[in-house]
Amino acid sequence: MPMYEYECQKCGFVFEARQKFSDEPLSECRDCGGAVKKLISRSGFALKGGGWYDQGYSADKSAPKCPANSGGGCGGCPKAS
Ligand SMILES: [Zn+2]
Repeated sequence: MPMYEYECQKCGFVFEARQKFSDEPLSECRDCGGAVKKLISRSGFALKGGGWYDQGYSADKSAPKCPANSGGGCGGCPKAS
């Protein structure tokens, strides 16, 4: 489950929330109830170990290019089938 970071626009409080992709994004600060802004997660999409692109799929010209191929994958990578 990915981890999201939110920053409160009112008090500046930054907190993390682990949510499913299907969950609604948070809109309220846990501290003061003010509006929050979603931050780019620093680690939520990091894959441990090799990904599908390490298994020969990168040689497949039909495979969509992943912009994060060198850094451990991204949340938008299609699953290898
Ligand atoms: Zn706040």
